[in-house]
Amino acid sequence: MVADLLDGNSLSKKMLSDLKERVSDFKSRAKITPKLAIILVGKDNASEIYVSKKLKNAKAIGIDAELIRFDENVSEQKLIDKIQEMNSDEKVHGLIIQVPLPKHLDMQKVLNSVCPLKDVDGFTCWNLGLLLQDKESFIPATPLGIIRMLEHYKIPVEGKNVCMVGHSLIVGKPLVLLFLNKNATVTICHKFTKNLSEFTKKADILCVAVGKQNLITAKMVKKNAVVIDIGINRLSNGKIVGDVDFEKVKKKASFITPVPGGVGPMTVYCLLKNTLKAAENLQNKK
Ligand code: NAP
Repeated sequence: MVADLLDGNSLSKKMLSDLKERVSDFKSRAKITPKLAIILVGKDNASEIYVSKKLKNAKAIGIDAELIRFDENVSEQKLIDKIQEMNSDEKVHGLIIQVPLPKHLDMQKVLNSVCPLKDVDGFTCWNLGLLLQDKESFIPATPLGIIRMLEHYKIPVEGKNVCMVGHSLIVGKPLVLLFLNKNATVTICHKFTKNLSEFTKKADILCVAVGKQNLITAKMVKKNAVVIDIGINRLSNGKIVGDVDFEKVKKKASFITPVPGGVGPMTVYCLLKNTLKAAENLQNKK
């Protein structure tokens, strides 16, 4: 038996095409164009690729997108001043700061400077707090994309054992909250977890967001588990792989995400969906 692929590429294409229609309806109703502003600090290669995908897809579905670049050494105050300027720009509906940020910047302070109503990445303490309360909020795009993918493939979550490996603020922690809000039993593992495989082997749904090639091998996976590989690792030959030993694990799992082509494209879709939602919310407030 070989696992079915959770095909984020084709699913996101279909979802983006539906979203394009919703954007077009909104534009003709509201007579405004949703706009996403992206702030990029420095020249991180991976960030350049992610940002260009966000810009390209936004434009393809009729959302305006603007990239604002800052030098690697930008001061925290200069960055926050720009964020505040974008917060009060009526033409901007969604504002994201591409992470990671250079070490001299206090990431959480910078992210918390984004107006919660424009925080389409869902990284402010306001939106994360609402997620903790299971209230309407902007949900971080990668975790949201994973949940949408599970829903699409009709994979039940309630009562399942979920193991989350990696607990960053951007992926692991919000994903854990989404699973809890859907009544899963969640185990969270990280760098200090002893005997990782003891936990991963119990998982009906195993999610991995670490950034370490082959961290998860076949013997760490329960038979017929659903495996969600969020990791992105660039090899010296230019190839991109996840955190899971895909070739071996696919023979044991029931469903698995490929890398690339799994979680990544769903992330872009969810970010743009959040941007339309921000434009709709701000329009409804007028
Ligand atoms: P991060 O902030 O570096 O977090 C990594 C997490 O992994 C931390 O919680 C860390 O624990 C944990 N960890 C490190 N070594 C471990 C080990 N040996 N065993 C278990 N846990 C370990 O990274 P991130 O931003 O969450 O991203 C994780 C991966 O997902 C990266 O490869 C990134 O490129 C990828 N990613 C993909 C998408 C997408 O759209 N596909 C989006 C975002 C990120 P400690 O906190 O205890 O150190």
